[in-house]
Amino acid sequence: MLFKKKKELEPAKREIPEGLFVKCESCGEMLYKTVLEKNFLVCPKCNYHFRANVEIYKKLLLDSGDFKEAIASHLESDDPLEFPEYRAKLKQAKESTGLKEAAIAGVGTMGGFEIVLFLTDFRFLGGSMGSVYGEIFYRACETARDRKLPLISVTSSGGGARMHEGIFSLMQMVKTTIGVEILNENKIPFISVVCDPTMGGVMASFASLGDINIAEPGALLGFAGPRVIEQTIKQTLPPGFQRSEFLMQKGFLDMVVSRKEMKGTLIKLLSYLGAKNG
Ligand SMILES: [Zn+2]
Repeated sequence: MLFKKKKELEPAKREIPEGLFVKCESCGEMLYKTVLEKNFLVCPKCNYHFRANVEIYKKLLLDSGDFKEAIASHLESDDPLEFPEYRAKLKQAKESTGLKEAAIAGVGTMGGFEIVLFLTDFRFLGGSMGSVYGEIFYRACETARDRKLPLISVTSSGGGARMHEGIFSLMQMVKTTIGVEILNENKIPFISVVCDPTMGGVMASFASLGDINIAEPGALLGFAGPRVIEQTIKQTLPPGFQRSEFLMQKGFLDMVVSRKEMKGTLIKLLSYLGAKNG
């Protein structure tokens, strides 16, 4: 589960390269980078969703564009197994993203509703879930319970559980699931938004446990990737297998919502779920 992820995820090269223009991976249109960025990294011509980072989601979803207060933002991963090159990879990820971990959480407002928002960033070790990632999610759940605020998570975690922390990462599947259970017991709404790619231990724990599960269009979602499944069962998979639209048809998701419609949709859902506005 934890290995061979990188190659599977390579066909859709969704990160934005340097330069003035960006070629859309889907329709081939040459797009001005600034136009694409203003459009929250969605191709204006064909609606292809490039991978977005936590800064883009904060701007997209929060009224002020940022958290009012951060949750557990001081936590940083250790290297409990002394896994080869893990410390160097963490250092490099921190420097290139400006983040301390692949996950952040905070309290903010969305359409006037106060919410707890949990976000992950694919740029940081594939958005994989280690001990700190799991702890931040759990503390986000506790904050949501203590303040009686809905929790919304937006994940892009191609790596699933982080292999460099071995069993400690796998334990986060349990911890995050208990976090969701705490919300259930206290009747706190939890909306999970899954983005390309959300795989492995993340999809197999909290990310598929929302009261409402939403996906961005075209996202690769699942446990093992299509290539591993094909090799295992020795059968060719149907087109679009494990993409959002396919999983929506099969009943795995409640909604597929484009990035530009996401905030409006979430606000509507928050009002249906009885969240307090203002
Ligand atoms: Zn396009």
